Amino acid sequence: MIKIAMFDSKQYDIDSFESQGYENIKIKYFETRLTEDTAYLAKGYDGVIVFVNDAVNESVIDVLASLGVKLVALRCAGFNNVNLKYAKDKVKVIRVPDYSPHAVAEHAIGILLTSVRRIHKAYIRSKDFNFSLNGLTGFNLNEKTMGVIGTGKIGKAFINICKGFGMKILAYDIYPDESLGIKYAPLDEILTKSDIISLHCPLTKENYHMIDSQSIKKMKKGAIIINTSRGSLIDAEALLEGIKEKKLGGACLDVYEEESDLFFEDNSGHIVHDDILARLISMPNVLITSHQAFLTKEALENIATTTLNGIESFFEKDVLLNEVAYSKKE
Ligand code: NAD
Repeated sequence: MIKIAMFDSKQYDIDSFESQGYENIKIKYFETRLTEDTAYLAKGYDGVIVFVNDAVNESVIDVLASLGVKLVALRCAGFNNVNLKYAKDKVKVIRVPDYSPHAVAEHAIGILLTSVRRIHKAYIRSKDFNFSLNGLTGFNLNEKTMGVIGTGKIGKAFINICKGFGMKILAYDIYPDESLGIKYAPLDEILTKSDIISLHCPLTKENYHMIDSQSIKKMKKGAIIINTSRGSLIDAEALLEGIKEKKLGGACLDVYEEESDLFFEDNSGHIVHDDILARLISMPNVLITSHQAFLTKEALENIATTTLNGIESFFEKDVLLNEVAYSKKE
């Protein structure tokens, strides 16, 4: 029997993992996140399953390695929360590279439409039989320029949806995919020419705060930013300034720089100490969801099967599927 400890487990994770029928893998579900303090819970387990906000840093890796944990299986695509350089030769790391690009791309469009057509406001009004249209004026997406940063799996799915709206696409990627038949441009041109900018690249050391006060200055007045990728791609303080100065027309965020302290949990009865987040949330043109772009039935099922298949393959066949390993570029 392969023994696995899963961290940051929610009921929807337990349901999807337990329904896959892998009788050779026994999972203990821990609600807590993986941190230096909780890493000892992995004692007696062969591997751990972690999520986006579990910190697989040097100290955690040291504890896991000392406990004999051989595998860290990320049940997500991004791996910015893992110190791959330090993990090398201590634990192996695998991930789920493409569980459902459509889930994320559709959510990105969902929060954009909700925001620009004021659907969230109309929903609350009509619940109170307030059928007034004052203040609900939006704008068409048709003919607008969508700047897409990162044209990988999610970016491609997103571009296809945007094409359906009749939008013009301007893209930036460090590795352009010429087979897409779309117009690529340097990052500065994306910033200056786009009506809406959507981030679909991974977070790396090089692109930390790629949207900061300087890049916001270059944007069109009234531009809208969508981020369903990773919070730290945007300097949240600079974003807030851009919104307050009315330079930006809005922000649709599924991720946030400091989300690990708050997202995925019910904080409704708490005093939130993050003033930037609180101020952003108070803005009429900022829409925030709690890193839920991945959360569809299809994606959860793919995450569970790919993760379990990867664990089985490693422990029973000594074959690493979807490994993420340190290379000098990272
Ligand atoms: P992918 O690897 O298929 O594509 C990423 C693309 O970004 C690649 O084409 C790559 O060349 C490009 N890129 C890398 N660095 C770049 C940079 N500095 N500037 C511009 N482009 C750059 O990845 P994907 O499956 O499309 O996922 C993209 C990101 O979406 C993930 O890294 C993850 O952070 C995020 N994500 C979020 C959720 C969510 O629930 N919100 C779910 C899944 C993935």
